[in-house]
Amino acid sequence: MVLRIGLTGGIGSGKSTVLQMLVGHGAAAIDADAISRATTAAGGAAIAELARQFGADFVTAEGALDRAKMRERVYADPAARRQLEAIVHPLVGVEIERQVRSAVASAHRAIVFDIPLLVESGRWRAQLDRVLVVDCSGPTQVSRVVERSGLAPKEVEAIIAAQAPRAARLAAADIVICNEALPLGELAGEVAQVAAAFGL
Ligand code: ADP
Repeated sequence: MVLRIGLTGGIGSGKSTVLQMLVGHGAAAIDADAISRATTAAGGAAIAELARQFGADFVTAEGALDRAKMRERVYADPAARRQLEAIVHPLVGVEIERQVRSAVASAHRAIVFDIPLLVESGRWRAQLDRVLVVDCSGPTQVSRVVERSGLAPKEVEAIIAAQAPRAARLAAADIVICNEALPLGELAGEVAQVAAAFGL
């Protein structure tokens, strides 16, 4: 049996760092956002149905979803958002299952699903055996992201405010890695313990 672990955390929490460490311990990684984007990129599996239901003008000359146009459309219309999700989500599910089978076939014991919006979008939980949350304080998130991206602190604070509150994320967690004031070497030690608990 392969263990399905959902990994989430606010921006700058250290999610990507932890994911790479878990991969180093032999976990397979599945990137839910990348799979979702691929369905609506040029030649993606969702394009034909999107054109049929929303109109050919929602597809660019390159054959990708016109994201700006769709964003505008679903922003004002929850029914359109549900219609979009009803097209994209099942295709994402099919691709995820394909990647899961491939991970199992190559003898991975654990799969880490990188799901930035795990808590925000309730649909993931039922597919996961464990939820692993990487946590740190808001000020630490801001300083890490400012350093990494060059965004202004105010911009980072706005991104954090649009994500699930820290308490909601912690409430959804089976396991929490506290990545606050922790040198990277010590974070690696924490991750090694979690990996061992996952049978890696
Ligand atoms: P996320 O994927 O959650 O946005 P990242 O893993 O990319 O976060 O981490 C954000 C930044 O902070 C990266 O530049 C990363 O190297 C750094 N970082 C993360 N954890 C630590 C830590 N414990 N000590 C020092 N730097 C860290």
